[in-house]
Amino acid sequence: MANVICKECGYVGKSKKITKGSIFIEIILWLFFLIPGLIYSIWRLTTRCDSCPKCKHKTVIPIDSPIGEKLLADIQKP
Ligand SMILES: [Zn+2]
Repeated sequence: MANVICKECGYVGKSKKITKGSIFIEIILWLFFLIPGLIYSIWRLTTRCDSCPKCKHKTVIPIDSPIGEKLLADIQKP
């Protein structure tokens, strides 16, 4: 996990990986229906993305990117 900055609320810190769906459904599908289980797993993996742990928005940018650095500088201005 990388250090990120949130465009929405200005949160600075570690991002949170948010995965859609549920691990419970995934296990059930795998146990009873192999193919839907596989599709469900792939869908969950592909929709997984970094999110802000504070406001839950997906508007997080890595701090070490040029845009992230600019945002951080803007936020830290008095
Ligand atoms: Zn946020």
